[in-house]
Amino acid sequence: MCGIVGYTGRQSAIGHLIEGLRRLEYRGYDSAGIALGTPNKLYVEKRAGKLVNLENSLGDAIPAATSGIGHTRWATHGGPSDKNAHPHCDNEGKLAVIHNGIIENYSQLRIELESRGHTFDSETDTESVAHLLSDLRKSHKGDLASAMREAVKKLRGSFTLLAIHSDNPEVIVGVRRNSPLVVGLGDGENFLASDVSAFIEYTKRAVALGQDEVVTITPNLVSVTDLKGREIVTKEYEITWDSKAAEKGGFTHFMLKEIYQQPVVLEQTIKKYLTGNELDKVKIDWNKIDSIKILACGTAYYSGLVAKYWLEELTNIFVDLEVASEFRYRRNAAKKNEITIVISQSGETLDTLEALRKTQSYGQKTIAILNTENSSIGRIADYILPIMVGPEIGVASTKAFLGQLMVIAALGLDIGLKKGNISQNRFETLTAELSKVPNLI
Ligand code: GLU
Repeated sequence: MCGIVGYTGRQSAIGHLIEGLRRLEYRGYDSAGIALGTPNKLYVEKRAGKLVNLENSLGDAIPAATSGIGHTRWATHGGPSDKNAHPHCDNEGKLAVIHNGIIENYSQLRIELESRGHTFDSETDTESVAHLLSDLRKSHKGDLASAMREAVKKLRGSFTLLAIHSDNPEVIVGVRRNSPLVVGLGDGENFLASDVSAFIEYTKRAVALGQDEVVTITPNLVSVTDLKGREIVTKEYEITWDSKAAEKGGFTHFMLKEIYQQPVVLEQTIKKYLTGNELDKVKIDWNKIDSIKILACGTAYYSGLVAKYWLEELTNIFVDLEVASEFRYRRNAAKKNEITIVISQSGETLDTLEALRKTQSYGQKTIAILNTENSSIGRIADYILPIMVGPEIGVASTKAFLGQLMVIAALGLDIGLKKGNISQNRFETLTAELSKVPNLI
C-alpha cells in the first residue's frame, strides 16, 4: 500500500506533487518519483529512499509544468533502487506511468514487448505497462484514455495506474482495479490520488471511482468511462475531514495524536449509534437469521474476535469469525439464513473486499463496518455502518479499533432488543454504561 498523486491545473505542479506524496508517506514506501508534464519529453526524477532524496535530486532547474504525476513505491518486483522507482517511461521518454499494486502477467507482456523492439530499463512489473500503453496509444491515434482501456483488458492483477504523455501534458489518465483511486475536483485544477489526504488542503470535493473505471482529468474536465468507453455518471461527495485531520497537530506521531482523540471521536460514534437511530437503516429480520459470519483482516479481525462474544451474548445468534484472506479460498463457505459482517478501517482491504464479493455471490446480505464510506467495500455492501472516527493514519490501529467495537456493541444491543433476547431495562443499562466510555478513557 503506497501512494499515487496526479495534478493538472494552473499552478506549478511540483509543489502539489511533493506535498501530496508527503501526505501519503504514512502508507509506507521505499522510493519516490515524479514526472512533470513538459512538452516534447517528460521531466522525470526518481530516487530510492525517503522523499527528501527525491527533493534533493530535483535541484533548482525544475521546469514550470502545471501537470504531473507522483509516486511512492513499495517494491514488489525488483528491489528498491533508483532505476526501479516509478515513474516508468516508454523508450522515447514521452509517456510515463506510475502504479501501485501488482501486474500478475507482466513477464508474458515483457517477452512480447521486447520481441517488438522495446528495451526495458527496470526489473519491475510496471514497466511493461508503460511500453504497452505506448504502442496502444499509437494505434489509438494518440488517445491515451482509449489506450488505457485497451491496456487494462490485457492486464491481470490489482492496480492503480496513472499515465501522462508529453504531447498532451495537461491530460492525466488513471484506472483502478482492486486498488484505490479518488478524484479531487478543484476550480480550474483537478487531482487524482490514492486517498483524499493528498489533496484535502486544496479541495473538499471528491469522486470515488469504481472497479475498472478509466478516468481522464484536465484542468477543467473530469471524465469517467468503463472499459468499453461508455461514459459513467459519477457521484460527487464532500470530504468531511479537514486538512488538519491529516496532520500531526503538534504530536510527535500520528499514533499518539489518534490515541488522544479516542474519547472525542467515540462521542460521535455514540451519538450516531446509541443516542441516534443509525441502525434503523439495517432492514434485516433478525428472527430469521441463524448465524452471523464476520470477515476481516488484521486489527479489524481482532475487533471481530471481541464481536463474536458480544454478539453471541446479546443476540443469541451463532457467530463465526474468519480471516478474510483464508475465507476467500474455501469452497463450501456459506450457510443458509446467514448474514455476513465485514470490518475494515479503509474499506479497501483487498482480501476483505474479495471475501465480501464471495458471500454476495451466495446471495447473502452484507453489513460493512467501515471508517471510509466512499470505498470499494462501501460501494458494494448492502448496509454500511460508518465508525465516524476521522482518518486514522497511524499504522497500528487505536481509535478505529475502538470505533469498530462501539458500533458492534450498539449493533448487538439493537439486535438483542429486537429479538427479545435482552430486556428494555438491560438495553438501557448497557447503553448508559457504554455512554460513559469516552469519559473513562
Ligand atoms: N509492483 C510495482 C513495483 O514493484 C508497484 C509496487 C507499489 O505498489 O508501489 O514496482
